[in-house]
Amino acid sequence: MVLIDSCGRPLLNLRIAITSKCNLQCIYCHKEGEEIGSCSKGTTNEMELYEIIRIAKISVNLGISRIKITGGEPLVRNDVCEIIKEISKIPGIKDLSIATNGVMLKSKAIELKECGLKRVNISLPTLNPHTYNNLTNGKIENVLSGIKSAIAAGLNPVKLNMVVLNNINVIDIPNMIEYARKTGAILQLIELDPINVNKQYYSDYHKFLDDQEDFLKKKAFRIDTRRFMHNRKIYRLQGVTVEVVHPIENSEFCMHCTRLRVTSDGKLKPCLMKNDNTVNIIGSLRNGASDQELKELFLEANQMRVPYNKEKKQ
Ligand code: SAM
Repeated sequence: MVLIDSCGRPLLNLRIAITSKCNLQCIYCHKEGEEIGSCSKGTTNEMELYEIIRIAKISVNLGISRIKITGGEPLVRNDVCEIIKEISKIPGIKDLSIATNGVMLKSKAIELKECGLKRVNISLPTLNPHTYNNLTNGKIENVLSGIKSAIAAGLNPVKLNMVVLNNINVIDIPNMIEYARKTGAILQLIELDPINVNKQYYSDYHKFLDDQEDFLKKKAFRIDTRRFMHNRKIYRLQGVTVEVVHPIENSEFCMHCTRLRVTSDGKLKPCLMKNDNTVNIIGSLRNGASDQELKELFLEANQMRVPYNKEKKQ
């Protein structure tokens, strides 16, 4: 079975934030749309390991087969490998991945792979050490060795998530394409989302990725569409693959959303852009709810999934 929302969209993906704490301070970070003061401090109301696994199991039972672990920075949780191990064992799970800043991957990549992780998305907004430090407050050497370790551990694909910022890192795109080609990684160019960044920052640094897509269209020998991932385009260039994620003003993006989120404090979140329709699953779970009652909360959250761009235009 697969749940379908009121707009006919199947629910196939779950994105679970296992913490809101982070070891970097990326200025552009949307914090997965969570209402939290600071990414580095995070909420104290994190879900426990067994709670995360129970929610994951219920979701797979309802037809979700792809789970992404995110944060904050998921690798700062000591039990991240245990979380991966337990989720990877759930019958019916087809895809399990992590979104990480890569800083701690050097020491964790092999263990994560052994625990059942197949693939990883690593944030890398630039290859310029100075720009990287300005954007994230981190050292680029750490993430570059994390990427190397992920590839050496056999995580595949390794995707590099580059949020593109006007007048900051657009100039780095050709180098990023070359780096992806050299390392065998896939590059994802991501348009800045207007969430948890202030209006001035967004208007200064948001850049539509249309020019980049035109360039990629000319260079590509093949273009594919990820049907169950917002219809995003995949450009196959000689020796390298580049994906483009541009959600803003893009009705295709929302119309093909197959995703539900779980916030780090245990709420089902139907849309990255909204916080007024979350469903508090952790409260019920902690009050002894049965699996059936938890399933019903998933059904409720699924019914609240509405294409944001369509809703905004009405
Ligand atoms: N700390 C982890 C990381 O760096 O990947 C996981 C959390 S981070 C919020 C998850 C993803 O969101 C990253 O790939 C990051 O590039 C992307 N991201 C962060 N802020 C964004 C924004 N304002 N717009 C678009 N994507 C963003």
